[in-house]
Amino acid sequence: MRERAVTVIGGGLAGIAAALELADAGAPVTLLEVRPRLGGAAYSFQRDGLWLDNGQHVFLRCCTEYRKLLPRLGTEADTVLQPRLSIPVVAPGGRVAWLRRSALPAPLHLAGSLLRYRHLNTRERLGAAAAARALAKVSPRDAEADRQSFGAWLRRRHQSPAAIEGLWELIGRPTLNLDSDDSSLAAAAFVFRAGLLEHADAGDLGYARVPLQRIHGDAALRALSDAGVEVRLGLRVQRLETMRDGGLLVSGQGERFLSSAVVLAVPNDRAPGLLPEGAVRDVGAIERLGSSPIVNLHLVYDRPVLAREFVAAVNSPLQFVFDRTASSGLHRGQCLAVSLSAADAEIDTPAEELEARFSDALAQLLPAARPATVERFVVTRERFATFRAAPGAWCSRPGPQTAVDGLALAGAWTDTGWPATMEGAVRSGRAAAAVALRALGAERAIQEVAA
Ligand SMILES: Cc1cc2nc3c(=O)[nH]c(=O)nc-3n(C[C@H](O)[C@H](O)[C@H](O)COP(=O)(O)OP(=O)(O)OC[C@H]3O[C@@H](n4cnc5c(N)ncnc54)[C@H](O)[C@@H]3O)c2cc1C
Repeated sequence: MRERAVTVIGGGLAGIAAALELADAGAPVTLLEVRPRLGGAAYSFQRDGLWLDNGQHVFLRCCTEYRKLLPRLGTEADTVLQPRLSIPVVAPGGRVAWLRRSALPAPLHLAGSLLRYRHLNTRERLGAAAAARALAKVSPRDAEADRQSFGAWLRRRHQSPAAIEGLWELIGRPTLNLDSDDSSLAAAAFVFRAGLLEHADAGDLGYARVPLQRIHGDAALRALSDAGVEVRLGLRVQRLETMRDGGLLVSGQGERFLSSAVVLAVPNDRAPGLLPEGAVRDVGAIERLGSSPIVNLHLVYDRPVLAREFVAAVNSPLQFVFDRTASSGLHRGQCLAVSLSAADAEIDTPAEELEARFSDALAQLLPAARPATVERFVVTRERFATFRAAPGAWCSRPGPQTAVDGLALAGAWTDTGWPATMEGAVRSGRAAAAVALRALGAERAIQEVAA
């Protein structure tokens, strides 16, 4: 039996953040991860000599805890962050409108861009501005708002189908990974308030210039071992139990780790199977969080077809398209990543059908793609990409504290106030580490009194 003060179960961003925080506070830490790599839901893989991410990952300037983790991992320089939010939104035929901020303070920073937004008519633009003002007053912590659907709320605010599709979904769908009809109003209020409405620079957009595995998993392995954390890859935790005389026993694949504190940082579909009985008040609430899929399409063209780093699409099955040529290591032609959030309709669609439909959509969106040839096509499917921030779910998430002494919960699905994002994961890890450290502090105090 191994005795370590704290065991962290799960090596995604939540587990990585928790383990670093605990090690920095002086606790001996072991991190157990079932996969052969760290990084969890944000990773890369090699296919026919190209590095592809399982899904395009984007962060915002307001993702402060995630952005603090990057320098801790030594990888901040491998990301880009726009000096000012600027999203080219393209319609079939190549017609572009920009969502970008000016130098004015919030909420005026977006006013000019919204008033010139060519994908909506004047009435829709003015209506969207009025709805944005109303959304800024909805509290993300209001249980009544959580019970409502964002889509229904938008329609009550007279948002036309074109405004919902061409503006609200453009931001809401990738951040909540749900269509507006399926999203909680409270969750949407959080996203729009934190990302766009409260601080002018909050929504400046960032992403990795290199494969995700390099900025997260591989870098974390180095940082954790430098911090003295013992990382065990390829170890599936099968049981987590409380000991009669105090402490927690973590076991899996014939190994046992007796721990004074445990951070359980596994996805929401895995946590209920590991939680000791009575650890959380309502395990059913975790199960009911469910999941929402994301599909990414990776297309290698024989020539450059997209002149920008990324574009968003309207009136098209495409959502966001990124140029990943440099990151993938491609030397000739162009590698695009098409990111499809809330991909219930695409998750089980055969690859040939996706290739036909989406290469045609790209040809309609990007004139330069029409004469070009798609030389390679790869689909990545993440069925359990995020929990569903559906009406009622947003406010029912458990926080880091459990009813078991020393056991803390982490994961982007826990109640961080954020949607299932890299930021939410890092915040959850840090919050869980604080709970575990309090338990260690209490245990040490008892030992000192006994001595
Ligand atoms: C395709 C895709 C695109 C996304 N796009 C974005 C984006 O643009 N911006 C953004 O901010 N977020 C995005 N996200 C969400 C983001 O990736 C996640 O919210 C975040 O990475 C979750 O981190 P986590 O540590 O909470 O969970 P996970 O990353 O799921 O980590 C949990 C870990 O626990 C391990 N584990 C599970 N069971 C066991 C066990 N029994 N024993 C040991 N280990 C176990 C798993 O292998 C995993 O490594 C995206 C997600 C996907 C899938």
